[in-house]
Amino acid sequence: MLIDALLIRKLITTVTDRVIAHASELTALDQAIGDGDHGLNMKRGFEAVVAGIDAITDQPLPQALQAIGTTLVMKVGGASGPLYGTLFLALGKAIPAVPSRGDAVKAFGTAITAVQVRGKSEPGQKTMLDVLIPVQVALLQGREARAVATEAAAATVPMKAIRGRASFLGDRSIGHMDPGARSSQLIIGAVMDVLEEKL
Ligand code: ADP
Ligand code: MG
Repeated sequence: MLIDALLIRKLITTVTDRVIAHASELTALDQAIGDGDHGLNMKRGFEAVVAGIDAITDQPLPQALQAIGTTLVMKVGGASGPLYGTLFLALGKAIPAVPSRGDAVKAFGTAITAVQVRGKSEPGQKTMLDVLIPVQVALLQGREARAVATEAAAATVPMKAIRGRASFLGDRSIGHMDPGARSSQLIIGAVMDVLEEKL
């Protein structure tokens, strides 16, 4: 799987467009069970990635992913900034420059573990992990990831938040989709749309 500069550029712009198109939805989800900044946080972070796109795409895939991670850590803010930053930084560190499909899926798993360590979180706690983990499992099994991501985001609605700001609400967090689960679904959907013919 050759993920060259042109493809990295397409991935970045597609993900960013998707995040921006859904920023107000992410904000509304975070207004329900958080502080209402997730849409703006994600929009700011990915706009900063696009602003640095030339420097990012000049580099091989592992370094490009790490540069995206560093930008997200600096620009997204909130709880999700360091977590998404960790996801991309760890993915960049784990992935070979020219990964096979299996290499990419394995590196994604390593990156998710890094997010778990950073967030002291586990699946079932109503966070982005509740989308990332089922998607990684689906990819390992060669199943279609987008449908799994959509189902997994929806499955956070009945969950009670145990981590992050939403956990302050206790039982009142039940009945709302987790904003980070939704943003993870959007990012995965955009990545899969671009990679579809490559995988
Ligand atoms: P903040 O909660 O600081 O306002 P955001 O609104 O940008 O940050 O992001 C909130 C999202 O971050 C949540 O919906 C959740 O998915 C994710 N999140 C928060 N804390 C954790 C954690 N410890 N582990 C994994 N994900 C988390
Ligand atoms: Mg928030």
